[in-house]
Amino acid sequence: MFQPPRCPNHRCPQHARPGPGFFVRKGYYHPLCRAHPVPRFQCRSCGRGFSRQTFRADYRDHRPDLNAPLFVSLATGLGQRQTARNLGLSLRCCQLKFRKLGRHLWRLNLNLRGPLPEGSRLQLDELETYEGRRNSRPLTLPLLLERESRFVIWAESASIRPRGRMSAARERAIAEDERRFGPRRDDSERAVKRTLRRGAQLASELERVELETDEKSTYPRLAREAFGAERLVHRTTNSELARTTWNPLFPVNHTEAMARDLLGRLRRESWLASKKRRYLDLGLQYFMAYRNYVRRRFNSCEESAAQVLGFVKRRLRPAELLSWRQDWGPARSMHPLDRATA
Ligand SMILES: [Zn+2]
Repeated sequence: MFQPPRCPNHRCPQHARPGPGFFVRKGYYHPLCRAHPVPRFQCRSCGRGFSRQTFRADYRDHRPDLNAPLFVSLATGLGQRQTARNLGLSLRCCQLKFRKLGRHLWRLNLNLRGPLPEGSRLQLDELETYEGRRNSRPLTLPLLLERESRFVIWAESASIRPRGRMSAARERAIAEDERRFGPRRDDSERAVKRTLRRGAQLASELERVELETDEKSTYPRLAREAFGAERLVHRTTNSELARTTWNPLFPVNHTEAMARDLLGRLRRESWLASKKRRYLDLGLQYFMAYRNYVRRRFNSCEESAAQVLGFVKRRLRPAELLSWRQDWGPARSMHPLDRATA
């Protein structure tokens, strides 16, 4: 039987430090979208009424049964339109579910991680994509990986200026964009900084931080700033080196290739594309959640990346990933594997 772990009212003292018997049971209700009755409760301290649903990520959702299939579909290469067709949803409904689940996964990705074990090795690389218009709105996408486990620590996108070969049509497109939006910003460095900082949060207890990157000239300084020069061991690889399995950066290159495959919007020569950068970032949360918690580390391996690092006990099923709400931070949110029974 479900036991509420705390009062959901964050202003109530029973939210931060719930005492035994802080609630009374108030019967059940029968939602149309569920087979089982949902238990209701009331807090003795603040009087707030709540139910088991109040703790769920699908609180107030229509068709909560479609959340897990939608996650699997969007995290394994299909676009939103095809997912909507397959599940019998409207495109708008699929878009709204995509955003809500994306925000949930963003919190979950941050809540479930812990300090990296000694001997962890980090790899950083950037891949290039675009938003809306390929020839005038390029994006860079730094991705930070723990090498042995293949745990994706962070990935996010940032606008960069168009560069490379210019055709007359491309110059026209760039000029038109500048008239509409102003000059395009180069936020590459800021995104790399934020990504490295996500790594530094997990590496705060490591005596030695090993980082592997290509030879981009800004990386050594940014890496020293993020991890501290005295414990950083930074190795670089020339990006001209053939990208085979022998390349030291193969793990991060391979993970990038996997991201391009699993996130349809990163694929080249595809009809799928990100219209807005912020939705690409939500899509990346799907990739990180799927890659770190659901998928096996390798096809030949039973464990997930997060399991290898000791962040979770076993691989998570999509429905478990989307079970309990995560917006109360790592200490107060319920764990996806928590059955909340006592
Ligand atoms: Zn309360």
